[in-house]
Amino acid sequence: MNRIMKTLIWFRNDLRTTDHEPLKKASESGSVVGLYCFDPRMFEQTKYGFVKTDSHRAQFLIESVRELGSELVKLGSQLIVRVGKPEEIVPLIIENHQFDRLYFHGEVTSEETTVEEKVTDSISVDFQKFWGNTMYHRDDLPFDLLSIPDVFTNFRKKVEKYSSVRKPVPKPELLIGDDKIEIGEIPAIEDLGLKPIQPDDRSVLMFRGGENRAWLRLKHYLFESEKIKDYKYTRNGLLGADYSSKFSPWLAHGCISARSIHHEVEMFEERVHKNVSTYWMKFELIWRDYFRYSAIKYGDQIFKQGGIQGKKLNKKTDSETFNKWAEGRTGIPFVDANMRELNTTGYMSNRGRQNAASFLAQNLDFDWRWGAAYFESKLIDYDVCSNWGNWAYNATVGHDPRNRYFNILNQADKYDKKGEYVRRWLPELRLVPQEFVHEPDKMSVDQQALNEVEIGKDYPKPMIDLEKSYEMIRSRD
Ligand SMILES: Cc1cc2nc3c(=O)[nH]c(=O)nc-3n(C[C@H](O)[C@H](O)[C@H](O)COP(=O)(O)OP(=O)(O)OC[C@H]3O[C@@H](n4cnc5c(N)ncnc54)[C@H](O)[C@@H]3O)c2cc1C
Repeated sequence: MNRIMKTLIWFRNDLRTTDHEPLKKASESGSVVGLYCFDPRMFEQTKYGFVKTDSHRAQFLIESVRELGSELVKLGSQLIVRVGKPEEIVPLIIENHQFDRLYFHGEVTSEETTVEEKVTDSISVDFQKFWGNTMYHRDDLPFDLLSIPDVFTNFRKKVEKYSSVRKPVPKPELLIGDDKIEIGEIPAIEDLGLKPIQPDDRSVLMFRGGENRAWLRLKHYLFESEKIKDYKYTRNGLLGADYSSKFSPWLAHGCISARSIHHEVEMFEERVHKNVSTYWMKFELIWRDYFRYSAIKYGDQIFKQGGIQGKKLNKKTDSETFNKWAEGRTGIPFVDANMRELNTTGYMSNRGRQNAASFLAQNLDFDWRWGAAYFESKLIDYDVCSNWGNWAYNATVGHDPRNRYFNILNQADKYDKKGEYVRRWLPELRLVPQEFVHEPDKMSVDQQALNEVEIGKDYPKPMIDLEKSYEMIRSRD
């Protein structure tokens, strides 16, 4: 009797069963088993003095892997889980369990592609690398990968005009697994050297990892609450679960694909309502694609201080300044509130990210890579291309080299006029009236006493003179 073909699927940032081409393709011939490796390098200390992946993302990852395991079992297969380097684990599993081929989704940045190469170099069976992390498929772009336009609008207009988004690949109906393999245990967060997360009821959303949660969130944002109808006008909000979609953590872990979201948005447009807001969701997802394709074009330049511009820069790198920013002790409430939200929940709004990044890179004149690495550590939705690409953009070494910066106080006034957001994350300012909430150091000593806060003791004085920092920024170019 002929032995059936055995495929090992190496899962990475694609922790899903729907719109998963490798899984679907493997399911069409022979048996299929999944593998996820908790790579210890993901949890190591970085040269900046903090871990590469901190607790919020690690917890989300654990939940996502757990759910993927359950989904594969429901389909008739299994997920093998190991702690170790993929280039050591994958060849062992292939050899010990006589797999005939390896399928996986390819990544684009060097740490990930180096691991891929080591894995494929160390196996003697066939392998196939798939493309599955963008909305527009790489093969459908109307330009060569290395010559994507350097201006986002040109990229967007061309893909919108000359390309189309493929339909998601359906989930396999049934898989044949191999129940003789010991599947192993998902590590607890402590096993990864991290502290368990403390839920905080100030979080915009209690994020839980996994494919089912991703779909629940998608259905909620589109068909149940219909919040997507106002997305374009609410997306810069700071408080509440639904001002923006919050799809990012699930997208970053691949619990859902951008293609599936696109497909559901188009269904919503067809069946319920189509307007500029429903379009805007697709527009933002093009930004996500753009940063990924840019990472292919520019390779490791996206991680360099001078960015894709190759600028020569000489920026600050002292720990004291950095720690004030990272811990939310700058004395600028709008920045501090955002950083404390990030530290407490693993999430920060897009508006917050822009301001926090601009403050570090521009006002503090600091090496932006420290900030990008810090976001990498803390963000629940960390995505290498979106994070480093957006940071570079805000540090004016990315795709828009203009001397762009945010006026933090204007932004605070525009997006948190009454100071509700700042008071939520800086309880020491809870009694400070609207007039002073974004500049509490402007209160007299008597006003401070009245509002039960001593500036310089309960809440820091501003670490820099903001006005002077803007003069410095303006004089740079
Ligand atoms: C300094 C900085 C760092 C960032 N780091 C990350 C990161 O590590 N991971 C990440 O997913 N996003 C990152 N972003 C982009 C953006 O802030 C988040 O995608 C967004 O806040 C996530 O919330 P949401 O899902 O509710 O977004 P929504 O506004 O609902 O947007 C829907 C989706 O569109 C995509 N998107 C929206 N804005 C952007 C953008 N500017 N760039 C790329 N994709 C976008 C995301 O996938 C997002 O989930 C960063 C932005 C900045 C300024």
